[in-house]
Parts: sequence; C-alpha cells; structure tokens
Amino acid sequence: MIDDRVTLEVGVATAQARRLQNEDSVWAVDGVYLVADGMGGHDAGEVASSTAIGVLKELGGAARTTDDVRRAVEAAHAAVRALPSSTGRRPGTTATGVVLTVHGDTPCWLVLNVGDSRTYRMAGGVLEQVTTDHSEVAELVAEGLLTADEARMHPRRNVVTRVLGGGASQVEPDVWLLPVSPGDRMLVCSDGLTDELSDARIQAELRAEDAAQAAADRLVSAALAAGGRDNVTAIVVDATLSRR
Ligand code: CA
Repeated sequence: MIDDRVTLEVGVATAQARRLQNEDSVWAVDGVYLVADGMGGHDAGEVASSTAIGVLKELGGAARTTDDVRRAVEAAHAAVRALPSSTGRRPGTTATGVVLTVHGDTPCWLVLNVGDSRTYRMAGGVLEQVTTDHSEVAELVAEGLLTADEARMHPRRNVVTRVLGGGASQVEPDVWLLPVSPGDRMLVCSDGLTDELSDARIQAELRAEDAAQAAADRLVSAALAAGGRDNVTAIVVDATLSRR
C-alpha cells in the first residue's frame, strides 16, 4: 500500500500476434506498471526486455522518487548491455510505464520512458500521450515533416533513437511526476498497439469499457483485428482517489 487514498484497478493483456516470439515483457504489481519491448533477433529481444523489467521492478521496493527511477534505468541499461550478443547485434529494449508514489502529501504518477513504447493518461474521457517517443519518425513529426498518421505507416517507424542496452554507454530516460487525478486511466503499451491503432481509436476503445481488464483485452483484440503485425501489450490502470 503506497497511499491509502488511492485505489487502483489493473488490467494486463499481451499477444504474440504474427511474430515468432513475444519479445514484450510486462510487470504490473503493487503500484509499478511497466512494459518493455525487446529487440535483437532470435531470443535476444525477449531476454533484453525481461532483463530490463527484472531490474526496473525493484522500484516496487524503493522510495519511488525521480532519482530512484533514473538510478533504476541506469542499472537496467547496464544489465542489458552486459547480455551476450549472439547475432553480432547488441540486444536492446524500450521501457516505459508508471509508478505510483507520494510527493509531499500528494499521490503522484511517476512516468518513465526510454524508446518508443508509450504511456498515456485518459482524464475526463480524453486521452493524452504523456511520453515522447524516442524514434526517428517522432523527430520528423516534431519538426512538422510527417503527420502522426504518416508516422504510423512509415517504413522506418520502428527505428528508435534511445534504448536500454544497444551501443550507447549512457542512456537518458524521460521522467515525469504528475499528480493523480480522480478517475485517471493510465495506459502503458508497446508499439504493437500504437502502430495498429490511432490515438482516436485507442481513446474510443478505452471509453467503451469500464473495467480495466476488459479495456486491456479490448485494446489488444482491436490491434490484432487491425493486422497484429507485432507483439502487442497493454496495461490499463484505473485510479480512484478518496479523501483522507
Ligand atoms: Ca514492438
């Protein structure tokens, strides 16, 4: 129990879809909700994402400050970099998610991101992407050279510019601290969801289900129905806030 004013209801769904393996890893326990999307060929991606999650889940036992998150991301980066590379290509993984914490006396979401998996918040029925993708196409969208819809179809859409593991010795995560609002619905997902479904479609699917598990299942089913070209993972976290 992190804060007795906050009650969370959580749903998790993942699917291998039309891939040979599911290289996404997921953690959803006690206020720590994380998705990692591994890459590296053969089983290296799966090992990379599960290695990163194995380190980051320790945030469940920490004080849960932005510094804790940065330290955990550094440790996860080092652990993935230490993995053997069997194919000549260094294993790597994205990581994103949300950690419930208390800042001062205010219940807060700590949101972290490295790579192009995403964390969203839906408040009052309106979905907003909290994280910024670390990808080539996201940079083109930011410069006004591509629209979001064009980016979802772009041949280089899966080229990430930051990753845990990979070739870079350092990694800089993005970290946000957001006060929990009553009725917040957080979504943590891999790009297998967001490559298949637009934000407008994700919002519509999330609005269509009250229960977190039903919402997570619905999103993954919709991504599979839309093509399911990649592993797809979704965590839905609903927060109820009561006064002390
Ligand atoms: Ca993926």
